[in-house]
Amino acid sequence: MCAIVGVYGSEDAAKIAYYALFAMQHRGQESTGLSSADGDRIHLIKKRGLVTDVFDEEALSLLTGSCAIGHNRYSTAGKDSVLDAQPVFAKYKLGEISVAHNGNLVNKYEVRNELIDKGAIFQTGMDTENIVHLIAKSQEDKLIDRIKDMLTKIEGAYCLAIQSRSKMFVVRDRFGIRPLSLGKLKNGGWMVASETCAFDLVGAEFVRDVEPGEMLIFEEGQEPKSEKIFEADYHPCAFEYIYFARPDSIIDGKTVYNMRLEMGKQLAKETPTEIDLVLPVPDSGVAAAKGYADGLCVPFEMGIVRNHYVGRTFIEPTQEIRDLKVKLKLSPIKDMIKGKRVAIVDDSLVRGTTSKQIVRMLKDLGATEVHMRIASPEIKFPCRYGIDTATSQELISYSQTPEEIAAYIGADSLGFLSIEGLKESLGNDRKYSLVSFDGNYFAGGNADSPSCSNCD
Ligand code: AMP
Repeated sequence: MCAIVGVYGSEDAAKIAYYALFAMQHRGQESTGLSSADGDRIHLIKKRGLVTDVFDEEALSLLTGSCAIGHNRYSTAGKDSVLDAQPVFAKYKLGEISVAHNGNLVNKYEVRNELIDKGAIFQTGMDTENIVHLIAKSQEDKLIDRIKDMLTKIEGAYCLAIQSRSKMFVVRDRFGIRPLSLGKLKNGGWMVASETCAFDLVGAEFVRDVEPGEMLIFEEGQEPKSEKIFEADYHPCAFEYIYFARPDSIIDGKTVYNMRLEMGKQLAKETPTEIDLVLPVPDSGVAAAKGYADGLCVPFEMGIVRNHYVGRTFIEPTQEIRDLKVKLKLSPIKDMIKGKRVAIVDDSLVRGTTSKQIVRMLKDLGATEVHMRIASPEIKFPCRYGIDTATSQELISYSQTPEEIAAYIGADSLGFLSIEGLKESLGNDRKYSLVSFDGNYFAGGNADSPSCSNCD
């Protein structure tokens, strides 16, 4: 998860970056940060909390300069640290530098241990610090060459925005696992963001996606320069379409909402059932449920109401608290459900907590049948490329069949989208990253690697 933004060549760089982070709040709520560069120095503000909590007019007024980069951090439950906010700032031989990173480096421990052996000290658990150290230690004279040097030493998923006092460098890994797009501002400046919904909010025009393996270099008075650093081996993350990205974002030319509708329609073909009503798990299952209902020609109703004010106050150390959290968040409309055969659609099933709670709620309200439908395949493998999925043991589909899970969650039936069906929905024009479903760790890292406690 996580979101990054970079703005270059605009008087209002920090303000624009702030609105971009606001638009991408769904990608991370743990902490947020912005750094700006005014030619002489870099200014940084970062803190735990939501974008609107951390920044106000006064804070933004301190972030002067025509270049700003920013980050929203997503953190695994219980592993958030006040220090782990980004961008990561440092002073080094060539001056000042600030780095924002979305993704997950799969060789972070090897690199870190090597750096520590050579005397490096670290302030946080984030793999982003490896990047800063590698740049600082490089023997190259120019920053751009130091960045290229660093890129030969890191592996995995990354989208990077790197800022010096006067330039900005943007890099996407050769697999293009996480999304990153380039936009043009109305006042002539440039912008990159994890999702295109950020462009829509600030009125920037979408130019194109940053290519996998590409570096963009922004310098004063010049058009952005593009350099191909690595041969592309494009594997965009299917989970961005399934769950992470905002439905109005466009990734690789495909609107996320439309992809979710397709997944729902495909699910209807693969797991049809006699029902009276289709309900989504809000908000994550809405588009897929609409597709499922359309596919079966059955009424679609927003029959489960979501309370949007349940924040992240409830850290989830135990199963009991997780159960309560679902109840606090979701509540069904009673009249709609009594005496009906209902299908509920969610985008994914991880531990089964959400599904179990919802099935129980609907049965308690008198639904005669409850059929659970999941608009993605069974999640059997942890992803090491920046998705916070648990260890194999915590993934219910790792050890249980759909029939066993249906019994566990109390549903009359349970149906998943097949891997082939997912590929069909997304379009067979790409090799998607499907690690969570097929365990193909094409970019290094595997299910048994240490977990992502210090990722993104
Ligand atoms: P669970 O209740 O453990 O089965 O989790 C399934 C729910 O979590 C679904 O409603 C998904 O929308 C949501 N979900 C899936 N992946 C993630 C993730 N990486 N982080 C947070 N929530 C997720």
